Amino acid sequence: MDSKPNQLCIVVPCYNEEGALPSSAKVLGDLLHSMISDNLVSADSYICFVNDGSTDRTWECIRWLMGQSRMFRGISLSRNFGHQGALLAGLFTARADVYVSIDADLQDDERKIPEMVAMYHGGKDIVYGCRDSRETDTWFKRTTAGLFYKLREKMGCYTIPNHADFRLMSARAVAALKQFGEVNLFIRGIIPMLGFPSGKVFYARKARKQGESKYPLSKMLPLAWNGVANFSDTPLMFCLFAGLVGCALSVGLMIWAFCQWYSQSTIPGWTSIVLVVCFFGSLQFLFMGIIGLYIGKIMRETKHRPVYIVQDDLTRPAP
Ligand code: UDP
Ligand code: MG
Repeated sequence: MDSKPNQLCIVVPCYNEEGALPSSAKVLGDLLHSMISDNLVSADSYICFVNDGSTDRTWECIRWLMGQSRMFRGISLSRNFGHQGALLAGLFTARADVYVSIDADLQDDERKIPEMVAMYHGGKDIVYGCRDSRETDTWFKRTTAGLFYKLREKMGCYTIPNHADFRLMSARAVAALKQFGEVNLFIRGIIPMLGFPSGKVFYARKARKQGESKYPLSKMLPLAWNGVANFSDTPLMFCLFAGLVGCALSVGLMIWAFCQWYSQSTIPGWTSIVLVVCFFGSLQFLFMGIIGLYIGKIMRETKHRPVYIVQDDLTRPAP
């Protein structure tokens, strides 16, 4: 990365944020102004609000902001696609050298953006915003988030602890993200798979000032399920394990049933029924586990994830 200031785009997904937008736009606008005057980013840097099918006056508010300054730009989606979809829409539609994604309520500390950009100039393609405390969360959110990240880790999914979607990405990291054609989105799980030099900044998350959370449990659970099921076939491996244990148990049971029959302490017909039930029961378990292994492979194939990502290509002669 060269030393001349690069064009920055701050991507802000917005769903029913008419309450938060005016003050957040002012804060982000002032921040961007100061970054431009400090020569940290180029003068054509901008903030891209993504209206995610809001039912309130969010889009009108974005249009109004666009009339106030060229620094504010907007994208409006045809309906509500959810935070993850809105974020990708912003990253893939806006053109810039470097992108920072941040929520419209500015619960994440926007004052860390200059530090992120400085790290980008220092050679990082991805800079993760990580919370150093969860004090502003409810007990429920804190506990379930902790359990969720532990579960992901146990299932072999690499996770950046205490990181959501406040991050910086270089244009080439965003281009690499485009190669992942996923529709069940859990973006924070994909980003570490991109590779590239990365760093972290730490901040304390603020409480939401305007409006209320657009992430109720009904949206959080599908996201959490995507976070596990998109990245791990451990639940399927569990089927195979249960099949093998079931097989071993039923062999034991069959030997026991046979001994009972041999010592003539069973009623006629019992042994044959138990043997048949155990035999076919254990076969079913085992075959389900084997089918699970194939389903795991099919899952990976259908995702069409890239098998490699080029960081530097020096095959062409320099101009
Ligand atoms: N958001 C969105 N689409 C949705 C839900 C949320 O674009 O369907 C945006 C929302 O406007 C905010 C960000 O995603 O900018 C995070 O949402 P929120 O702050 O409500 O989540 P929380 O911080 O409570 O987890
Ligand atoms: Mg929030």
